[in-house]
Amino acid sequence: MSPANRNKCQHGNCSCTVADGGKYCSPHCETMKDSQEIACECGHPGCSGEVTQKK
Ligand SMILES: [Zn+2]
Ligand SMILES: [Zn+2]
Repeated sequence: MSPANRNKCQHGNCSCTVADGGKYCSPHCETMKDSQEIACECGHPGCSGEVTQKK
């Protein structure tokens, strides 16, 4: 495991960072961690999930 990913959300499709000691940026990611969700929907600005939600 790379140190650079230490503060990366553990949701595979989420690009958010998390606070020290945290694993997920949001309850959404923790809930969806075992799913095959294509795009993260945590709603955080800058998250990869935002790409599919542009208006
Ligand atoms: Zn996310
Ligand atoms: Zn996340």
